Amino acid sequence: MQASETQIATAALTVLSEEERMFQDSVRQFARERIAPHVRAMDEAGVFRKDLLEEFFKLGLMSIDVPEEYGGQGGTFFQSILAIEELARVDPAAAVIVDVSNTLFNNAILRWASVEQKRHWLPRVAGGTLVSYALSEAGSGSDAFAMTTRAVEDGDAFRITGRKLWITNAAEAGLFLLFATVNPEAGYKGITAFLIERDSPGFKIGKKEDKLGIRASSTCELILDDCRVPKSNVVGEVGKGYKVAIETLNEGRIGIGAQMTGLAQGALDHALAYAQQRKQFGKAIAEFQGVQFELAEMAVDVEASRLLTYNAARLRDAGRPFLTEAAMSKYFASQVAERVASRAVEIFGGVGFTKDYPVEKLYRDAKIGRIYEGTSNMQRMTIAKQLLGNRP
Ligand SMILES: Cc1cc2nc3c(=O)[nH]c(=O)nc-3n(C[C@H](O)[C@H](O)[C@H](O)COP(=O)(O)OP(=O)(O)OC[C@H]3O[C@@H](n4cnc5c(N)ncnc54)[C@H](O)[C@@H]3O)c2cc1C
Repeated sequence: MQASETQIATAALTVLSEEERMFQDSVRQFARERIAPHVRAMDEAGVFRKDLLEEFFKLGLMSIDVPEEYGGQGGTFFQSILAIEELARVDPAAAVIVDVSNTLFNNAILRWASVEQKRHWLPRVAGGTLVSYALSEAGSGSDAFAMTTRAVEDGDAFRITGRKLWITNAAEAGLFLLFATVNPEAGYKGITAFLIERDSPGFKIGKKEDKLGIRASSTCELILDDCRVPKSNVVGEVGKGYKVAIETLNEGRIGIGAQMTGLAQGALDHALAYAQQRKQFGKAIAEFQGVQFELAEMAVDVEASRLLTYNAARLRDAGRPFLTEAAMSKYFASQVAERVASRAVEIFGGVGFTKDYPVEKLYRDAKIGRIYEGTSNMQRMTIAKQLLGNRP
């Protein structure tokens, strides 16, 4: 469903429709009541609870803007952004799980898959199959199209061999959108997108990373050894996988903008509550102007980050160009998340530096925003390219 041009033109960015507000409230309540009590334990264990994942599916959070005919909620991309923001406010690891399903996987399938493929795969994604998006390799991160994972044609199938690295959700996922090259000499024009099921022969989940932040979100290596994938699992055309990847990552960046905005809001919420309760020199520290000014600057940062992110998402739903705005959202929101989480730790003083309070985790979680789905330098390159008239 696309928002109308009039809606886009007349409403302030943060004014939500009745439907958007109700949706936001329901995700907020779910995050506070069901996720918050488990955040610390999941972070320490480095594992996301299975029962909570199941609740994501029951609530329809994994297929927010997928049409109802494919088992989805028939919502908007903007609603996915609201969900990611609300989840990140409580747990950025929970948010990225939902982000990958909506802004990367479903987005790619909706845009590039055939009607038969959508009918076959999307109801599974809505109904309980967690998904991953596998582009990066050890030797190809920012230079994503330098990948070496190779797909060789074999009758009515391709045989894929290679390794993918850093794949979010991989420990639990049942279905992977994976990029491989059918012709290394052709450069980016050899890249092709494939749907691969977890139990495919020749497909294995490798090492799980032990990370600084978003520890409950799994990040694993994928190992493909002569893995047979039917030709009917190619998404889009053979050799057009680079387009599938580039175009989905544009939306993906808005998702990370939302994750980082939510994280920053979460840190500000905690800092506000603590500053009003903690007493020094006989009064609440919130009564000192030095602390008030910190809180005010944090609030400006969060609002600016939210506005950039909502604008990019609303442009996308309106069918307008949003590439630069998406890069700005991710770039700025990830800076804000680091800055606001860092200031929140300071407002908590000594206890902010311990695991007994939630801001320490948000500070660690913030770092990933400047790295995945295109580092900050990659976002700056995208923005500069637009400014300079698309010069390479
Ligand atoms: C927790 C986590 C989850 C992830 N999830 C996924 C996932 O689900 N799917 C997936 O496909 N990938 C995933 N990634 C991979 C992620 O997208 C890459 O790590 C990221 O794109 C950076 O690539 P790299 O690590 O190879 O760093 P590099 O590309 O080696 O970059 C290293 C540094 O060099 C800089 N640099 C590189 N090239 C240039 C240049 N031309 N100009 C200026 N500076 C440059 C970068 O900005 C960076 O600071 C994940 C990574 C992590 C850590």
